[in-house]
Amino acid sequence: MVEPEDNAEKQHNSNGWRLVIDFEEGALKFMKQKYIINGTHQEIQSLSDKFVKSIGKPIEDEYFDSEKHIYCGFCNKYYEPFCREHPLFHYYEKNPTNEESTTLTAAEKTLPRVLSIRPSKLPGAGNGVFSKIFIPSGVVFGPYEGVKLFNAEKCAKEGYTWEVVDKFGSYFLDSSDPNQSNWLRYINCTRRESEQNLFAFQNGGCIYYRVYRPIRIGGELLVWYGDKFGFDVIGQKEKALQNVFHAS
Ligand SMILES: [Zn+2]
Repeated sequence: MVEPEDNAEKQHNSNGWRLVIDFEEGALKFMKQKYIINGTHQEIQSLSDKFVKSIGKPIEDEYFDSEKHIYCGFCNKYYEPFCREHPLFHYYEKNPTNEESTTLTAAEKTLPRVLSIRPSKLPGAGNGVFSKIFIPSGVVFGPYEGVKLFNAEKCAKEGYTWEVVDKFGSYFLDSSDPNQSNWLRYINCTRRESEQNLFAFQNGGCIYYRVYRPIRIGGELLVWYGDKFGFDVIGQKEKALQNVFHAS
């Protein structure tokens, strides 16, 4: 994923590569500065030639390693570190709220300012997360935070748990406690393909949510995980699912 650049590291590469939002495609792109069209593209940040060249080495399925490689659902292929045609940008805010409010949970305080938490449009789902801006595909949220547990039975509530599988075995991330988790706990799961706009994936032992279908202003963020990973669903209730996630 492209990490947001630090102001101190800003590159002065006037004709070089840029990470842009392509509004026609609703997606992030790598693009040379000279091809940027006002109104169609919006620059996010500049990138060094070296960085762009290092992106997008295709990996055969049998060599997939969730620590290093990320699957591209558009190309149906794994890449190291990710696909160059469909780049990923890690979106987070260091200090999303300055509110000293005692009514907000720790998880709510991590919510980026471009998003809001309000009642979901899914029946019986409680709250959900909605966008105040247009979010192109390729944006990545996370990592998902929760209490690390090694026993599934200790996970408090369905719909708040991911199982992370690594080469040493597996563990569970339980976000049922809003004071020991982050805002991603409020994103609802849906199995209706037409509603999904986020796709969960594992990378470097963490779980992230990637936008794969652009989210319009006012749209609800809804996550599922891809067939490629082969998943198992432990319990299914009206609200959501216990997310069992096998990435490798
Ligand atoms: Zn791709």
